[in-house]
Amino acid sequence: MPHVVRSHCRICTNQCGIALTVEGDQIVRVKGDFDHPLSQGYTCPKGRAVGRLHHHDQAIIRPAMLRDGQHVEAGWETVLDDLAARLRAVIDEHGPKAVGFYFGSGLGMDAAGYRMGEAFYNALGHPPKFSPLTIDGTAKVLISSLVGGFPGLSGKTDNDNVDMLLYVGVNPMVSHGHNTGMFSPPSWIRAIAERGEVWTIDPLCTETAGYSTRHIAPLPGKDYAILGWLLREVIDSGSFASAQSVQGLAELRIALEGYDRATAAKVAGVQQDELTNLLAAVHRFGGVTVETGTGVTMSEGANLTQWFAWLLNILTGRMNRKGGVWFHPGFIVQFDSFQLPRMDNPFTPGAPTMPAVNGIIGDWPCAALPGEIEAGNIRALVNLGGSLVRSFPDANVLVPALRKLDTFATFEVVQNETTALSTHVLPTKDQAERPDISFWDTLCGSLSMLYSPAAVPPMGERRSAWWILSQLMMRMGLPAPDDLPEDDRLPGADDAMLARQMMGARCSFEELKTASTVSRPMEFPGAWVDGHIERIGGWILAPQPLLDLWSATRAADAAQGTPPPLSFIPRRQRRKLNASLSFLGSPADIILNPQDAAAADIATGDRVRVSTANGEIVLLANVSDTIRPGVASIPHGHESANVNLLTSVQSVDALTGMVLYSGIPIAIARVEEDEFSPASATG
Ligand code: SF4
Repeated sequence: MPHVVRSHCRICTNQCGIALTVEGDQIVRVKGDFDHPLSQGYTCPKGRAVGRLHHHDQAIIRPAMLRDGQHVEAGWETVLDDLAARLRAVIDEHGPKAVGFYFGSGLGMDAAGYRMGEAFYNALGHPPKFSPLTIDGTAKVLISSLVGGFPGLSGKTDNDNVDMLLYVGVNPMVSHGHNTGMFSPPSWIRAIAERGEVWTIDPLCTETAGYSTRHIAPLPGKDYAILGWLLREVIDSGSFASAQSVQGLAELRIALEGYDRATAAKVAGVQQDELTNLLAAVHRFGGVTVETGTGVTMSEGANLTQWFAWLLNILTGRMNRKGGVWFHPGFIVQFDSFQLPRMDNPFTPGAPTMPAVNGIIGDWPCAALPGEIEAGNIRALVNLGGSLVRSFPDANVLVPALRKLDTFATFEVVQNETTALSTHVLPTKDQAERPDISFWDTLCGSLSMLYSPAAVPPMGERRSAWWILSQLMMRMGLPAPDDLPEDDRLPGADDAMLARQMMGARCSFEELKTASTVSRPMEFPGAWVDGHIERIGGWILAPQPLLDLWSATRAADAAQGTPPPLSFIPRRQRRKLNASLSFLGSPADIILNPQDAAAADIATGDRVRVSTANGEIVLLANVSDTIRPGVASIPHGHESANVNLLTSVQSVDALTGMVLYSGIPIAIARVEEDEFSPASATG
């Protein structure tokens, strides 16, 4: 008999409630859970694809290892023994730092697996570590640390009360996870626009821009020019006040001196009237709440734009105040229960082959991985659920480097180009097969925690990631955490591992398991935030690394000639998440302005060869005046039109290790029918 299992989606961090109809071991239907206390039935197409993802025709259900160039399925004992012996041999000969770890999004959504991955990494004494942070998000950690004195200050818009909202390079209509935390974004954005105004800054008129009051389309990566000018106007007007103490205002004033409207408009490539109108709106509402996304953080101007966004929130009195930005106090770790330490230096040692580039909060730049392998520094890689080939920069150099690894172990549920390159493939329980909690609590839009049971039994030989990792540790002679269940297949074993994560949380694991969703009222404004800022002497408005960056950027902009004729920006698609869910059919397309398309004799539906100095891909043309001339939009995560063939490991932000994924100059040419290979155009 079919029955319904209530669960939560773990494709992104938005944590929508879903209802899975299960018949035997088949998931026959997935829909939004209308009784869910948070999402109330909302899901996006990705969440409703959880069943199709589970029954994927390329699902990995048995462990495998490379033998004579072929993947051969084998039992867990054989694969784990072999992998442990090879990792141990690498460590014995080259030391633990020869084993790299990638904390990918796959295990990133598996609470017990992720924590065991950390235990493994810690037991090896913190060898090279990579994560999606240096793929799309370092600017946020940088500015939280430098300006707020703590890297974990995770600011979110008070969507219930905001009246003047400025979105910069963020598209919550498509990307709900991370900090946007929106269920049903159209109704939320429409409600804000009816209450006040929503402005969107993006070279593309995105789905979010379509719902906004006004849209400004600057050159890629130049948002900081608009915000920098706005900030100077805000300061000079004397009409606004911070809600907390500040330090460094005099230095900031000097740094922004003379940054006039004409300069900002020229750098950003926008009309001066657009800036005037934006400033008038800020005055009209007595302040502005600025929210940024990966359109900013993947661009060259990421650090400056994120800095100025925070300063506008601070100096117009919107930080930690109603209608502005609130800070998540954490559900598992209760940040409001102790005095936050001052942590205003996020920089950590980076990769030896990139000595001029910082590491950040323990992460090495993802761009350094190929060079580290080629140099013989990294000889084995433990890939915890990452699709490296489609997410790391410069696949041109990455793929040959990955082939040179002595050992490359990948935890995964669906075959892809990265598993094909791996020496060991370790199938883990997918989200429908394991119980889990929403352990990225600070990324969600409320002070809450979710628990979901397993909906179906694991397929084939899939095992819990925590069990696989702990078995490896024990076989390698590393200290595994105490009191582990012997076997993940024992009743209650996975739950016991989840209960360990909840020590010190705002509710017990038992309470959570009984209720499925536990929410706590949140103090807003949070006294813990104001207290922390007062203890560090006020928001740090003018950190020296950012002043230096601003000075260098102003000089470079002043010397700059005309922008490149055409450059590309990244894009997420509603029916795809990074490298996964390709079966939902989102096209590998390139959005081109009619002017740029006409200049290259390209029409909608044509195949377009896109090239940089690094490589080329073929995409389908989508000619549209939704994008400004001189800019093209390319989605990421497509298999055979992998945008990372266009990026370069040489283009790295020295401050944070972030690779440039936006504003990269490209050349385009129509592909004639007789030179087209179908494999080169579809994702
Ligand atoms: S918004 Fe995120 S959590 Fe919600 S259904 Fe979509 S992918 Fe799942």
